[in-house]
Amino acid sequence: MHIETIIIGAGPTGLGAATRLHENNEDWLLLEAAGHFGGLASSWVDEQGFLWDHGGHVQFSHYETFDRYMDAALGADGWISHQRESWVWMRNRFIPYPFQNNLHRLDPEDRWKGVQGLMQAAATAKAASPVHFGDWMRATFGAGITELFMEPYNFKVWAFPPEEMDFAWIGERVSVPALEGVLKSICTREDAVSWGPNAVFRFPREGGTGAVWQKIGAMLPGKQIRLNTAVSSIDPVKKTVTDAQGNSYSYTHLISTMPLNHLIELAPGVVEARTAGDLVYSSTNIVGIGMEGPAPEHLDTKCWMYFPESNSPYYRVTVFSNYSTNNVPRPGEQWSLMTETSESVKKPVNHETLVEDTVRALKEDGLLPAGVKVLSREYRRIEQGYPTPFLGRDAIVDPLLRAFEAQGIYSRGRFGSWKYEVANQDHSFALGYECVDRLRAKAGPEAEPTLHQPALVNGRRNP
Ligand SMILES: Cc1cc2nc3c(=O)[nH]c(=O)nc-3n(C[C@H](O)[C@H](O)[C@H](O)COP(=O)(O)OP(=O)(O)OC[C@H]3O[C@@H](n4cnc5c(N)ncnc54)[C@H](O)[C@@H]3O)c2cc1C
Repeated sequence: MHIETIIIGAGPTGLGAATRLHENNEDWLLLEAAGHFGGLASSWVDEQGFLWDHGGHVQFSHYETFDRYMDAALGADGWISHQRESWVWMRNRFIPYPFQNNLHRLDPEDRWKGVQGLMQAAATAKAASPVHFGDWMRATFGAGITELFMEPYNFKVWAFPPEEMDFAWIGERVSVPALEGVLKSICTREDAVSWGPNAVFRFPREGGTGAVWQKIGAMLPGKQIRLNTAVSSIDPVKKTVTDAQGNSYSYTHLISTMPLNHLIELAPGVVEARTAGDLVYSSTNIVGIGMEGPAPEHLDTKCWMYFPESNSPYYRVTVFSNYSTNNVPRPGEQWSLMTETSESVKKPVNHETLVEDTVRALKEDGLLPAGVKVLSREYRRIEQGYPTPFLGRDAIVDPLLRAFEAQGIYSRGRFGSWKYEVANQDHSFALGYECVDRLRAKAGPEAEPTLHQPALVNGRRNP
């Protein structure tokens, strides 16, 4: 059976590609290992009826086109808009996010440490030539903010030391405050909270993040989609893929959205097998806690909280029932928290005790009040959660992508193209969509701005 374009994976990237191919009336087939759409952006309901996402997913977008598909998927009433309310918990208090813009919430010595570092960083900014993420933090924020928050927090998120990470991905992802603004917030004691691309976000009213992708998948013709169909081998010379049931399909173009390290293993001979091991990633452990009763008052309006301190395993906790009351089985009568804990060879996690450790820390951090009735403790581990922006990433990843392209294989997506800065749902959908446009136009890399010009795409305003 010959198909012009085969897509592997029905996460946001694969669905972006399939949507575009369908609109163009082209010949395509989508093969997905799981029995549902959405990949990492899918949701599930646990045995007690609590709904969970694979970590705190919020939707904000850099693309008007993406927004149109999202509107079409769930309809105007299907979304709930939220004003982001996120906080950092440290020193026994909540500090509004971004931390570096709200130093006035700290004690005087810490405040001074932060300002002193910023002043030194500003004085030496011109001479600074950072090599890695650690250097970049110090050159940008100075020692104070770096030691108080940036270093401990980033190690908890990334699970790799900053000396092993690049900083080119940062762009819009980290707030870099001007000294003047910091001093102003200290003097006026005003919180600065509206920074960043996700200051306003939306979330599905029903069914969690996964509902979006279920709908997008259902808008495509079922006869061109094979769920429960894992691709087990790819012959790049004969241009065939074979699935676990032994069915083979030949293709002209292959769009693969599986992790690039798996593609290297499944399609031998294109690049050296050992390069799969060069691709650094971290795992994500999701622990969800479902509770009886109303959420404590101090969590009423909070979206998520960051945790840089070492008493807790998690780096982020989301008040998931605040995103939609339908995320719990009895809306209005129950509430839920979702925690994320990173893991890597540099930061192992004890899977046996993680749930227990999480509950203990939630109590210490004041998020689980004494006497609260816990109904559900759900644990799920994602082997590949974050594509680490490791030092020298582009020099390794870009030649791999080009080598596959030379064989008609386009590896795209969060782990398909391994670029954290363009690995959210909107980016992923665009990676698939733009790849199809590029193939159709027989154009070069310039036809894929998301992959090749992340700074341009992320710098765009999408009101
Ligand atoms: C902890 C966490 C938090 C996140 N938070 C946000 C957020 O707040 N906002 C946001 O927009 N995005 C967020 N994301 C990112 C979002 O999940 C990704 O953008 C998106 O899921 C990536 O889509 P993808 O299609 O590239 O990859 P995936 O979702 O990984 O999909 C790949 C698909 O390929 C399939 N596959 C793999 N191998 C094979 C095979 N051999 N044969 C057939 N099929 C195969 C998989 O089953 C999967 O369905 C977050 C992700 C994580 C992990």
